[in-house]
Amino acid sequence: MTPLLSLRGVRKSFGDNVVLRSIDLDVAAGECIVLIGASGSGKSTLLRCINLLEQVDDGIITLRGQELTDPRIDADAARARIGIVFQAYNLFPHLSVLDNITLAPRRVHGVPAATAKTRALEMLDRVGLAAKAKARPDDLSGGQQQRVAIARALVNDPEVMLLDEVTSALDPELVAEVLELLRELTRDGMTMVLNTHEMSFARQVADTVCFLHDGGIHEQGPPAQVLDNPQQERTRRFLTRLH
Ligand code: ADP
Ligand code: MG
Repeated sequence: MTPLLSLRGVRKSFGDNVVLRSIDLDVAAGECIVLIGASGSGKSTLLRCINLLEQVDDGIITLRGQELTDPRIDADAARARIGIVFQAYNLFPHLSVLDNITLAPRRVHGVPAATAKTRALEMLDRVGLAAKAKARPDDLSGGQQQRVAIARALVNDPEVMLLDEVTSALDPELVAEVLELLRELTRDGMTMVLNTHEMSFARQVADTVCFLHDGGIHEQGPPAQVLDNPQQERTRRFLTRLH
């Protein structure tokens, strides 16, 4: 079966700093891939390359067989197929929750206001925040704000979701509600690539864990292997240091 998302020979440097040497990765429809690795190992860069926020130096990324790295691609149209959520939820403080979600569909993707609103309310309902449509981000807890950011990423009905340490900025008591939402999304069959420092979460949601080291995927496999019985010395050392 062809993978939904596929990376071949992806390379990315910043000046002399070679961050991704050569990344090969296949993501099947409905699969949840969790990237782990030391700070600076390139996890965020990899997600940003997939979403075309960074331009790869070399290599090919395809989504359902369409090459995203083709320079002639319509980047906005491609990004609409890929939801991304960051550690800092990046909501606009002066806009209501609802307007935060409808802004890009209306302004970037030309969705009529009424359609955008209906769809946004559906997504808010999905993340359990239908009652907060008129609230301002500042009136919400960090966990609620992150759920709004997830609703915003879901509103285009993305084919894949990328999540960059979405619980790292949250107080510990707020982490659980966001993790539960992500667990529901994977159960519903959403394809996801995410990175996290929460190994217990990785163990629960990941179909495949990828350990990034030295610009490559150093070890890859089901969580029971990579997290509980790593085959590579480097992976073992990384996991030991977390305790
Ligand atoms: P991780 O998410 O695993 O912590 P990052 O992808 O953020 O790692 O960073 C990998 C490396 O790339 C780091 O050395 C970082 O300093 C560098 N880097 C990331 N983004 C940029 C950028 N926009 N300009 C220059 N260097 C960057
Ligand atoms: Mg990062």
